[in-house]
Amino acid sequence: MRHNIFDSIPSNTVSGKDNVFANFLQTAGLYDSMEINKDNIQDLILLLDGKVRISAYCKECKEERVFSMSPYIHFVDEPNECYSLKLSEEVLRVQKGYVLENTPSPGSLAGKENTSWKWKNWQIEDVSRILVFKFACSMDEEHHLDYIVLTTDNSMMKIGQYPSVADMTFPELDTYKHVISKQDRKELGTAIGLFASGVGAGSYVYLRRILERLVYQAKATAGDTVNDAEFEQARVAERIKMLEGYLPEILIKNTTIYGILSKGIHELSEEECQKYFPVVKECIYQILGMWESLRKKQADEAALSKALSAITTSIIK
Ligand SMILES: [Zn+2]
Repeated sequence: MRHNIFDSIPSNTVSGKDNVFANFLQTAGLYDSMEINKDNIQDLILLLDGKVRISAYCKECKEERVFSMSPYIHFVDEPNECYSLKLSEEVLRVQKGYVLENTPSPGSLAGKENTSWKWKNWQIEDVSRILVFKFACSMDEEHHLDYIVLTTDNSMMKIGQYPSVADMTFPELDTYKHVISKQDRKELGTAIGLFASGVGAGSYVYLRRILERLVYQAKATAGDTVNDAEFEQARVAERIKMLEGYLPEILIKNTTIYGILSKGIHELSEEECQKYFPVVKECIYQILGMWESLRKKQADEAALSKALSAITTSIIK
């Protein structure tokens, strides 16, 4: 059945991964839109009913946590009374009304839909124009994760989020905290934040700057094995090739990255910057990952050698 709208809202909770709207809230950049239609309206009802749990990084706990939301309530203020209603139930009621109106009665033309589909009616128009999804951390309800959307009759647009995408990406960057400079880490956060806000060229400029600095850092490690004068004259792409052994193999061997990097910032369109961003970001992660595993190996070796020398001393005694 096409309009498979439930009789009453299911009582079990679902994971955000299985809910298209929760997924949208978590992954979309600012001003991205998605359609609300007959096929996904049930997901929206579940989300409004507080039945969706999402997994996200908690800025306060500094760990990945489960977040949930109370049912979306709004207040109706009438001359003689004031009462609260669950928005999920009203949306469900609107949908049931729609299905009923469009069920062919005997004698009428079967399947003919006489009302255009909307997810809301005039009664909830005002309260649902701007929706604020307030999620709370399972460890402490004072830890918040808020999303704001602007809705029309058949779409929602993400217009706000706190903590920001950049804040939420910090755990990813934490993995590299021993090998990344403060400046690079800050700018990487800014780049990711800009990218999430739909800024292509601006975010790409930051990434490229970081990549260039990392290449310089690799050169410092390489020292005299790479000729200073030649290195200075070369373009970023060529510099990467010169630093074989000091940068990840995948970067040395992959020619696509040279194509991306050889193009000057001014030659790139906004769309190209957006397309290249994840690739260049991954290159940066690869470099940091290589350096981090090297650092860890050295730290482990140092610890082992210290333990061995302690044993040696005690044996000699
Ligand atoms: Zn928390």
